[in-house]
Amino acid sequence: TVVYLNGQRVDYENAKVSVEDRGFQFGDGLYEVVHIYNGRFFYLDRHLARLQNGAKEIYMDLDFGLNNLEKVCRQAVKESGFNDASVYIQVTRGAAVRQHAFPKESSCTWVVIVRESKGNPQEFYENGITCITVPDERWSRCNIKTVQLLANCIAKEKAKKAGSFEAIFHRGGSVIEGSSSNVFIVKDNKLITHPANNKILNGITRGVVLEIADQNDIKYSEEVFCIDDLFDADEVFLTGTTTEIMPVVKVDGKIIGDGIPGKLTKIIQKYYQEHIQTVDC
Ligand code: PLP
Repeated sequence: TVVYLNGQRVDYENAKVSVEDRGFQFGDGLYEVVHIYNGRFFYLDRHLARLQNGAKEIYMDLDFGLNNLEKVCRQAVKESGFNDASVYIQVTRGAAVRQHAFPKESSCTWVVIVRESKGNPQEFYENGITCITVPDERWSRCNIKTVQLLANCIAKEKAKKAGSFEAIFHRGGSVIEGSSSNVFIVKDNKLITHPANNKILNGITRGVVLEIADQNDIKYSEEVFCIDDLFDADEVFLTGTTTEIMPVVKVDGKIIGDGIPGKLTKIIQKYYQEHIQTVDC
């Protein structure tokens, strides 16, 4: 594991931040997870752009410079020697005497952690996984990738206790997204996923799937659908940087479609696998 703290390489054991860091005290920070396939970054540019947008949304000045962050990410991956890795980026508003209002003088704490990625078991992709549904108890700005993930953690823990892979959030009967993934359903050969608004994180993987659909004449729409649409779907799959394209074969104990990964899901999986072999940006 390679760790950079505020632009400096540090030993894992010595990688420590202040007890008054606002990330620690208030969840006042943002993060990204980027995947490295075969030594190549998979859309680092898009992840950094999302980080920048998030910073704007929460009035955080990325005082270390986004270019520096990019350099450190590339350097850290190089030094790690890992071919397949995940890069965890976290940026907080920094350390200051505790008070809610933003400190006048603080500089960002920024961390880059490179870990070798083991990936999910292959059988998950081949046979599909199960999900549960849970009420969405998060705030109304889920488009920002903040480190305030307690509601997501509780949801994931419930899924784990139920022997499921993921918890799917719903709000007033509408299906929103997973605790760490976006949700797609397939109905009559059309992909449907929640619109990219303040209720979901606009996933990089979600975007790649829509591009794949565009390029291969697969119909799709970004619209709100309800829990019954989820249960009645021909196919369901999740998307995410570490989730990739994950077929869902059961939700709340109800079998989806034929109970095996669907036809379109498999096609998207195939195109996605081809895509990760070529992207390097
Ligand atoms: N939605 C949530 C709540 C997430 O935490 C994530 C990823 O961590 C995603 C969606 C998928 O986003 P991406 O495809 O950019 O990894």
